[in-house]
Amino acid sequence: MKLRELYSSGCEKLNSAGIEEAELDSRLLLLHAFSLTTAEYLLNQNKDIDEYFSNGEECRSKYEKYIEERSLRRPLQYILSGTEFMGLQMYCEEGVLIPRQDTETLCEEVLNNNKNAELSVLDMCTGSGCIASALSYYGLYKDIMAADISDKAIEVAGINLTKHAKNGFRLIQSDLFEAFKDENNKPLKKFDIIVSNPPYIKTSVIAELDPEVREYEPKLALDGDEDGLKFYKRISTEARDFLFSGGKLYYEIGYDQGEKLCHILKELGYTDIEVIKDLRGLDRVVSASFY
Ligand code: GLN
Repeated sequence: MKLRELYSSGCEKLNSAGIEEAELDSRLLLLHAFSLTTAEYLLNQNKDIDEYFSNGEECRSKYEKYIEERSLRRPLQYILSGTEFMGLQMYCEEGVLIPRQDTETLCEEVLNNNKNAELSVLDMCTGSGCIASALSYYGLYKDIMAADISDKAIEVAGINLTKHAKNGFRLIQSDLFEAFKDENNKPLKKFDIIVSNPPYIKTSVIAELDPEVREYEPKLALDGDEDGLKFYKRISTEARDFLFSGGKLYYEIGYDQGEKLCHILKELGYTDIEVIKDLRGLDRVVSASFY
């Protein structure tokens, strides 16, 4: 069998399973299974697998396994164990939210407005660590911390930060700010910037998400309770004690949460509250200062 024929059979299977990007996914899975670059594939697509590859059978069964998993809607990024985020290759696996393009808007907003590497930065609910990794890589922040409650997130964020952080990092397992307080509930440390992409999907909406998200991504990273705002309320309330005067809070938000979150932040005494849109023109980031 030729490589091209194997690719076509993968496309067919994914198409009949209703996978939207069947061609692209089949191609990427084939490259992964056979450890090929796109150029190598294009040059060798008419070669017979068993003649060209010494381990052809093994690669072929790997590919067929990947296609089977993808046809059951397992996300491509989990099968490939990674994805690109802000131009950086991020490792990811089940148990952490897959880094999304939406979150690049959040990173760009922080980076564009905070060019001083001396600033201290906390990424709360870091998940895969993609935000902290990109901020460290591009912002060169010397004092960067990332926190998450989940064991898996700590493991995966550790891998990504070790690879991408330019000036060191600290990773803390914590239920929001719990591990950042002393025995009298006073902050052990303050920050110039707190950034977060917390769980913000309404519980009732989770059942309507794509099967890739609904069945494979961690609920812990998605579910923002009945109104989707639980973590914004908790983080914004506590962050006031953990920000230096004039410090800034940056959130990723759902497209319809801007107004409600601005109201919450105003009530809590934040100022300079801004809503920033993503490339599709949807509300995606909220920033605010606290004095
Ligand atoms: N943006 C993600 C989604 O729509 C949700 C991320 C989150 O809850 N923080 O699936």
